Amino acid sequence: MKTEILKMLRETEGYVSGQELCNKFGVSRTAIWKVINQLKEQGYVIDSVQNKGYHITEAPDVMTEEELQSCRKTKWAGQEIAYFDEIDSTNIKAKELAEQGYPNGTLVVADQQVSGRGRRGRSWESPSGTGIFMTLMLKPEINPNNASMLTLVAALAVAKAIKDVTGLEAQIKWPNDIVINGKKICGILTEMSAQFDYINHIVIGIGINVHNEVFSDEIAHMASSLLQESQGKKFRRAEIIEKVLEYFEEYYEIYLETEDLTALTGEYNKILVNMNKQVRVLDPKDEFEGKAMGITAKGELIVDTWESRKLVSSGEVSVRGIYGYV
Ligand code: ATP
Repeated sequence: MKTEILKMLRETEGYVSGQELCNKFGVSRTAIWKVINQLKEQGYVIDSVQNKGYHITEAPDVMTEEELQSCRKTKWAGQEIAYFDEIDSTNIKAKELAEQGYPNGTLVVADQQVSGRGRRGRSWESPSGTGIFMTLMLKPEINPNNASMLTLVAALAVAKAIKDVTGLEAQIKWPNDIVINGKKICGILTEMSAQFDYINHIVIGIGINVHNEVFSDEIAHMASSLLQESQGKKFRRAEIIEKVLEYFEEYYEIYLETEDLTALTGEYNKILVNMNKQVRVLDPKDEFEGKAMGITAKGELIVDTWESRKLVSSGEVSVRGIYGYV
């Protein structure tokens, strides 16, 4: 009922009368009043006026299930939401929920991760109150060989969502990072559980630096946050999550039509920070330099070297600019 009340308050321009809420939920005035008070305690600013009812004027920067469900506009992405103040890793939790039978589109969100991870066993700094730590769980009927492209689908969705909400020029560092002004704002980690040609589940973990004012010495030179890049603006994390879900749902459905990125390469390449730039490809087997020319429909990075054109698959590979991180 709390989520529904929040949703009604959000969707109504003026006041929602107490009587209307009582009728809709079949409960007493006192029951409604209690929920309104709980919301106020959580930081929602709700104006109550006699004979008019309730009107929400401000929402706190929380990512609770009620908050996210009340502003969700998607069909299936985030249909189930599990929120935690603190968790080991949202990807680990999402895998557990997948095994417990939670549906395609389940979203795990946390305010803090104590063992946030990146690719190749690296860690992801996830302090409390600063970021978005979320994992979208999917149970798709696709060929497991095509699953790694979902990292690129997610990167596109995150970059677009950040741009929409903040107005900042979010770009993609192939394949899985979002950068603003050359600094890393977001990392994406996709993991899959599959047998032969059948996928049990895929989890797409997304970490976004929102309010961070400082980073550890190790990453301070290449990491940044939305707060830092906007000279101190505070964006509401729930709003960003909602937009990410909306864009992901849209792009994922396009991806499913061909099980590749045919219809998305144009949009991806437009915001690819490496486009037409010299890059160093950090492939453990074969490190080389060349000019990045965009991605293929399979999500590979096209790199022209002096001798030839190479197609680099994601997975174990990172790219760097010749003079710095991008
Ligand atoms: P790279 O970013 O080096 O090209 P990658 O894409 O494989 O490589 P990820 O798996 O996305 O990296 O993230 C892990 C790395 O990101 C860490 O090793 C660290 O360098 C950096 N990192 C960790 N926490 C954060 C954070 N909160 N913001 C930005 N960068 C971070």
